Amino acid sequence: MSIKTTCPYCGVGCGVIAQPDAARGTVNISGDTTHPSNFGSLCSKGSALGQTLGSDGRLLYPEINGQRVSMDAALTHVAAGFNRIIAEHGPDSVALYVSGQLLTEDYYVANKLMKGFVGTANIDTNSRLCMSSAVAGHKRAFGEDIVPACYEDLELADLIVLVGSNTAWCHPVLFQRIAQAKQQRPEMKIVVVDPRRTMTCDIADLHVPVLSGSDVWLFNGLLAYLHEHGHVANDFIANHTEGVDEALRVARESAGDMKQVAAACGLETERLLEFYRMFADHERVITAFSMGVNQSSAGTDKVNSIINCHLLTGRIGQQGAGPFSITGQPNAMGGREVGGLANMLAAHMDLENTSHRDLVQDFWRSPRMAERGGLKAVELFDAIHDGKVKAVWIMATNPVVSLPDADKVKEALRRCELVVVSDCFAGTDTNALAHVLLPAAGWGEKDGTVTNSERRISRQRAFQQLSGDARPDWWLICEVARRMGFDRSFNYDNAHEIFVEHAALSAWNNDGERAFDIGGLAKISSTEYDDLAPIQWPVPERNHPGTPRLLESGRFYRNNRRARFVPTATRAPAHKVDSEFPWVLNTGRIRDQWHTMTRTGRAPQLGAHLPEPYIDMHAQDALLSAVSDGQLARVETQWGALVARVKTSGEMPRGTIFVPIHWNSAVASDARVGALVNPVVDPVSGEPEFKHTPARVTPF
Ligand code: SF4
Repeated sequence: MSIKTTCPYCGVGCGVIAQPDAARGTVNISGDTTHPSNFGSLCSKGSALGQTLGSDGRLLYPEINGQRVSMDAALTHVAAGFNRIIAEHGPDSVALYVSGQLLTEDYYVANKLMKGFVGTANIDTNSRLCMSSAVAGHKRAFGEDIVPACYEDLELADLIVLVGSNTAWCHPVLFQRIAQAKQQRPEMKIVVVDPRRTMTCDIADLHVPVLSGSDVWLFNGLLAYLHEHGHVANDFIANHTEGVDEALRVARESAGDMKQVAAACGLETERLLEFYRMFADHERVITAFSMGVNQSSAGTDKVNSIINCHLLTGRIGQQGAGPFSITGQPNAMGGREVGGLANMLAAHMDLENTSHRDLVQDFWRSPRMAERGGLKAVELFDAIHDGKVKAVWIMATNPVVSLPDADKVKEALRRCELVVVSDCFAGTDTNALAHVLLPAAGWGEKDGTVTNSERRISRQRAFQQLSGDARPDWWLICEVARRMGFDRSFNYDNAHEIFVEHAALSAWNNDGERAFDIGGLAKISSTEYDDLAPIQWPVPERNHPGTPRLLESGRFYRNNRRARFVPTATRAPAHKVDSEFPWVLNTGRIRDQWHTMTRTGRAPQLGAHLPEPYIDMHAQDALLSAVSDGQLARVETQWGALVARVKTSGEMPRGTIFVPIHWNSAVASDARVGALVNPVVDPVSGEPEFKHTPARVTPF
């Protein structure tokens, strides 16, 4: 038996073939050569998926206060607890905190339950930590959360600018596609904008090692340079945009002249100008950006400063040209489509828009609708800490490890009246604080869809029996919803029924004013759903082939159909380094681990790459901190501390240290770097500033 499915890790969304071997009790994993996102390639994590299956370490049975109970008892307890707290304190006293690991169908019913039936928008997701700045930037510029480009554009571009993205480690198959394209077309140029000299720089023609947090200076300077040197798409600007003059004025005033821009970015002027000339001289330019842009207190402005440069040159919606947000998680995009962020409604509609709310309420036949945005991730856990939110259901994520100021998150959950956690795995830092544990189906056990960074919807398919009492997340949510009294609206038998409802909502009263339209999939049968080949939205009609590129016509999704140049004034990261905390702590992923290691930590071959947490720093900064390569050291911020081994890899610039996000109490003595990260967020997107916390390093 060979089952086509999709990798559950990063936003590249690679197609996978799973071949269970019943005799050996193993599953052989290979890349799906027919999947248009990866054409058969897999990275180390995807290739090791077979090693992460099995029931070891799984959460197999429901528990209430540490005691195994029946599934019915656990679900009834959760529903009764939520209903009681809502009755006593109102709908805003409860919340869901979900995950880009959920499938679209799971996400859809979770969002429907909260926004349409409980009547609160207190449902947020760990995608808030990942790409909410990109979402906010897209909405400000285009009127809707639209990624215009596709992976093929990375192969067609003459210049790829990778900003804040260690693509080689974090999106490896995409990196392979770029590297192969460059091999075939050596004239293709690659620029990497990143404070660190990561492995991604190995294929770069130019590395631009900007100071952490200086991206808006860089792209404001580029906007001014392009204008000054006549690289302006006048017709496109006149016919399809608004606000160029104000954006240029703000860019010039806040960034200053080229010398000032170079100084603000920590660059030699000649290197800055070399980048600007490369951008100006290549017509087909893709600017691909990732967490180094998004995870910042100025993340949304960073995104818009990039988009402004593409609007000025008209390089958007064309083959090989456009801004391109590369998402972190397998279904960050699917979560956005169903409105899984606290400030969004379903099908890319807006909570604050009365006609959108009425439309969704009408479609759902729901008793009440949330009328304003809910609490975003960091605010949500603050509200739990302060007793305003009294019940939370956390699904498929580990916020005690992954959120900033993570010790406060731990304390918040300790204080919370009702903490429900549904997860595939036992023994996580977050599970330890749950009153109710619900076992969720894992990869290979559940069915549904995910959407990757290029808007491609792919099926995840089951090829294994459910473990223990584990059930798919959508089933757990619907069973709780039914026990809360919403029986008729959550009466689904399978993921297909949810998917077609989601597709029908996207097309409901949509006469083309909303880009997210998969109405062409709304009437597919369960067999067609089972066989669904990867397809890029929009899919507005039956048998539509999908849409590789968006915005090709220059028609945008704001009321006046024009794109907006958003003025982006420069501002520094929230917290400055000083003599007490002299280094900038930057956090991120490593090549062979995923998030909090609940899955990848089980694969021996993945542990071999980098077996323990570490503090990477410049050799001279190590000397100044009285530590050396290989020595244990303590890294400390105003918010927390951890101990790890010092590494002087040569990747780090002076002044910045790097600690990976993966390790936690379950796999190492408490090495949760989230506990060290400042909780400041971007004022528009609510995305935390994971890349810039003042820190010190001392010998241990
Ligand atoms: Fe999975 Fe991403 Fe690796 Fe592809 S690149 S195999 S999606 S982790």
